[in-house]
Amino acid sequence: MHKPTLAVHSGTRRQPLGGLNTPVYADSAYPYLGHDQVRYPRYFNTPNQQAVVDKLAALEQAQDGVLFASGLAAISTTLQAHLNSGDQLVVAHGIYGGSDDMCRQHLPRLGIELTHAEPNAEALLAACRDNARIIYCETPCNPRLQVIDLEQLCRQARASQIMVVIDNTFATPMLQNPLALGADLVVHSATKYMGGHSDLCAGVVLGSKLLIAPIRELGLRTGGSMNAQTAALLERSLKTLAIRVERQCHNAMLIAQALSRHQQIESVDYPGLPDHPQHQLAQRQMSDFGGMLSFRVKPPLTAEQVERKFKLITSAVSLGGVESTCCQPILTSHARVPAEQSRQQGVDQHLLRLSVGIEAAQDLIDDLHQALDQQVQ
Ligand SMILES: *Cc1c(COP(=O)(O)O)cnc(C)c1O
Repeated sequence: MHKPTLAVHSGTRRQPLGGLNTPVYADSAYPYLGHDQVRYPRYFNTPNQQAVVDKLAALEQAQDGVLFASGLAAISTTLQAHLNSGDQLVVAHGIYGGSDDMCRQHLPRLGIELTHAEPNAEALLAACRDNARIIYCETPCNPRLQVIDLEQLCRQARASQIMVVIDNTFATPMLQNPLALGADLVVHSATKYMGGHSDLCAGVVLGSKLLIAPIRELGLRTGGSMNAQTAALLERSLKTLAIRVERQCHNAMLIAQALSRHQQIESVDYPGLPDHPQHQLAQRQMSDFGGMLSFRVKPPLTAEQVERKFKLITSAVSLGGVESTCCQPILTSHARVPAEQSRQQGVDQHLLRLSVGIEAAQDLIDDLHQALDQQVQ
């Protein structure tokens, strides 16, 4: 079946009375005598957790998965479960700031050797030494929206027995399936598009049973599981993921086009624009170009001056909600990234990142225009 159908129907644990939804099983205590497993929220095996994992596994074409209480819990548990002291981890510049901070501040304490490389397949592979164990990256990449060739990256990494872990938060499973392109594991901050209404925090890792098992084991030891109420909310949100993302892609394309024609704009980063450096790759690898875009305003105009003038677009951290939000990466997602690295990526006070919502595109374009035009006078 197709993804919009799977998003609605797969995973649902219907109640005995036949109601259409998975009930909220709030229980943290279950009988064990005569049962084949011990159920407990921290063991990741309660009905609401399993319903969400089954739905997401169907959407990402995965055998198995683990649902966490945050994206970063999914990412940190995944990396720690598959890395040992002495292993090299290669990560792309421009990954989510919180993930980057965890890799820089936490993993080296466990004896893991961290190397950064530019967000493209050649550079990531070239950075691998004999002890390389995992390549970790995002595509499209935060916040400049570079696209990494996953087929090339995964094929060559596999030949060297290096695992590839992809953060698919920006694309969502609707637009791109890293596992089908050869990745070993895919992670998401489900706080973003999957939740989609800016009202929950969640994370997930998906992949083969073999690679998921040690992640579940470590997660069970270190905690990080999700409660039933949040899982049920996430399950409901996922049913509309297809139509939300479709609308967000549609709006983002119209906005990217409108911005690239504006005289106060220096550049627009959106994989759907023909002048994006990896436009053709994005066309091949993704079924649409996503709802995230960044743009640079022409100095002396600053991102903050524009941000303060918005009437509809809301200035907020996070992304992927039904409402359009914007933020300056230098103050938010990349606040903990070393200044030198941020500068190299073009992350400065002139860059604004937009998470495009499901409003009418024209209202969003009008808001952008009034915010930019007021500066001209
Ligand atoms: C937000 C985000 C994360 C971290 O997820 P949390 O749910 O905030 O823990 C990881 N990766 C990307 C791309 C994100 O946007």
